[in-house]
Amino acid sequence: MKNLVVFGPPGCGKGTQSANIVQRYGLVHLSTGDIIRKEIAGESAMGDLLNKFVSHGVLVPDNIILKEVYRFGLDHLRSNGIVFDGFPRNLYQAQMLDRIFHKKSMRIGLVISIDVPEDILMARIIERGKTSGRSDDTIEVMKNRLMVYQSQTQPVIDYYKKCNRLVLIDGTKAVNNVFDDIEQIINERLYR
Ligand code: AMP
Repeated sequence: MKNLVVFGPPGCGKGTQSANIVQRYGLVHLSTGDIIRKEIAGESAMGDLLNKFVSHGVLVPDNIILKEVYRFGLDHLRSNGIVFDGFPRNLYQAQMLDRIFHKKSMRIGLVISIDVPEDILMARIIERGKTSGRSDDTIEVMKNRLMVYQSQTQPVIDYYKKCNRLVLIDGTKAVNNVFDDIEQIINERLYR
């Protein structure tokens, strides 16, 4: 299995690029954000609880997320590989992912971090908010999401850097050009 993480701040384009990767390489897409939004749309008690976190731009508790990831992993053990989008979001999740994978003799072979400056991220999210219908695509919530990214998610970069799995990509380029760069990295690192 070719498992990889697409990493980066909100608005960096990781959802779009993950979908491109999945299509190009025949992998499966695990977006924890999409799983959460589906649950919220179903208006269950769990959905209401999740919405409290998401609408404030803070992370959903690890135990809820890890249960979903574990279930998805088990369902896709025989796939060509998993593209993780929006997970891991903190150091604990990164360590738990390695631990779960280790038990199944699997590994994350590559972490692609999409780099975009904050002013561009903010502009993109405001634009996306006009059509996305997402309660967290507003200026106020976005400020919180960026703060959470810096304090909790960014440390994950060092974790992957230390084990030589991290590659930085310039996410300010046009979508197609970003994907060209990603494709080159994946071909070099995962399909040599
Ligand atoms: P995303 O679509 O990845 O930007 O995620 C939207 C929101 O879902 C985040 O702001 C968090 O509230 C929540 N979320 C998504 N993935 C995770 C995760 N791995 N851990 C905790 N919360 C998450």
